[in-house]
Amino acid sequence: MTSIPESSLALELDGRNTPPADIALACKLFDELEQRTSNAFGFTRPSFGLGEQIAHDMVRREAKKLGLETTVDAGCNLYMTLRGRQQGPGLMIGSHLDSVPRGGNFDGAAGVLMGLAVLSGFVKAGITPERDITVMAIRAEESVWFGASYVGSRMAFGKLDGDELASLKRSSDGVTLLSAIDANGGDARAIANGDAYLSARNVGMFIEPHIEQGPVLVDRGIPVGIVTGIRGSFRYRAAHCHGEYGHSGATPRDCRADAVRAVATLVVHLDEAWIELSKQGRDLVVTFSQFSTNPDEAAFSKIAGEVDFSLDVRSEEPETLDLMLKILHEKVEEIEKAQNVRFDLGSISTSSPAKMAPEIVSQLERCAEDLDFQSLTMPCGAGHDAAIFAASGVPTGMIFIRNEHGSHNPEEHMEMADFSLATNLLSSFCLKYPLEEI
Ligand SMILES: [Zn+2]
Repeated sequence: MTSIPESSLALELDGRNTPPADIALACKLFDELEQRTSNAFGFTRPSFGLGEQIAHDMVRREAKKLGLETTVDAGCNLYMTLRGRQQGPGLMIGSHLDSVPRGGNFDGAAGVLMGLAVLSGFVKAGITPERDITVMAIRAEESVWFGASYVGSRMAFGKLDGDELASLKRSSDGVTLLSAIDANGGDARAIANGDAYLSARNVGMFIEPHIEQGPVLVDRGIPVGIVTGIRGSFRYRAAHCHGEYGHSGATPRDCRADAVRAVATLVVHLDEAWIELSKQGRDLVVTFSQFSTNPDEAAFSKIAGEVDFSLDVRSEEPETLDLMLKILHEKVEEIEKAQNVRFDLGSISTSSPAKMAPEIVSQLERCAEDLDFQSLTMPCGAGHDAAIFAASGVPTGMIFIRNEHGSHNPEEHMEMADFSLATNLLSSFCLKYPLEEI
C-alpha cells in the first residue's frame, strides 16, 4: 500500500504558501495500478493491450469524478482538461501509460498521475487557472511492443504515415496497429491520412514529468531534476571489423590483422575523445555495447579475424554529434591503415536532440527555489514523448523524479515524498502559466 508522505500531509495542512496537489489521489491510483496490472514477475501494460487500457479507464474515471472534460483523439490518446478563465492555447501535462513487459509501476504512469494530482488539487481548492490545463495520457510510447517509438504522440501530431502505420505489428501477438487502434475506439484511417489533433497552434506548452531512468539524482542525493534537453544520437547497430585469422604464437605483430585489437583501439580513441570533450563542457555519452568474436571461429590460440560490435553515441548538442562522427571516421581510417583491417560500420540511425525551452527551465528552477528544495538541472539520456512535442514547435519541459534501480524493471523505486515535491513544483509552475516570457 502506497503511504501518503508525512511532509505532504503537513504541507496540505499549512496551506497558504504551498501549491495545491492531491497526493492521496496519486497514491490510490498507484496502488490500483499495482493490483490490476502486475503479477509476480512485474508490471505489464502492453501498448493498446489490456494493462494500458485498464490504466486509461482508471484515469478517465477519476477525471470524470473531478468534473474535467475528457476527450479521446483518433489514435486513442486521452485528454483530461480543467477549463481556464481565458480561451487560447493551454498548458498540457502528459506521459504514457504503457510499460515494457515485466517493467515497473512508475515509468510513464508517474507523469500522468502527477498531472491528475495537480488538477485534483486545483479543483478541490476551487482554483480556476488562467488558461486550460490538460493532462494527456499518451498511448504506445514503449517501442518494444510495435517496434516504433512514440507511436501515440506521433499520431497526435499527424506524424505517423500510412505506410508505417500499416506495417506495425505488436511483438507479443502479431496484432496490427491498424486493428488495435480501431478495436480501442480510434480511427486508423484518420491517422493514415495524417490528420493532426495537436499542433504548436493549439498547445501552448507541454511538460512531461517522468522518473529519472539513470542514477544521477540518487547519486547526488537530490529529489527532483529539471531537464535541459533530450539527447539525440547516432548509432551503428551492426558494425563489423574484418581482420585475418592467424596463429597466436607464430604471427609477428606487423603481420597481424587482429580484429579484436583494432576495435579495442577504436574504443580507446573514442573514450579519449569523450574525456576531452567532457573537459570542454560538452554533453556526451559513448557506449560500445555488443562486442563479439565469431564463436564458431574464435579460439584461445587464434588471432581474431572478425569482430561484430555496436556503437551508440548521444549528446544534447548537434555539433557534438557531428564532431564525434568525424572523429569516428578519422579513427577508423587511421586504424585500418595502421593495423591492416577493414571496418564495415553498416547503416547508421540518427535522432536529433530535443532542446527544452530555456524559459521553462528557468521558471521551474525559480519555482523550486521558492518552494525551498534542491533540484538539479540536467540533460536527459533516454527518449521521451516530450521530444515529439519539442520537434513540433511546442515549448516543452521535463521534470525528473528521483528513482532507484533504473527503469524497465520491476525494481524501479520512487519515493512518494520525492513525487510529492515534484508535484508541488509542477503545481506551482501551473499557477504561473501563461509565463510572460513565452
Ligand atoms: Zn517512459
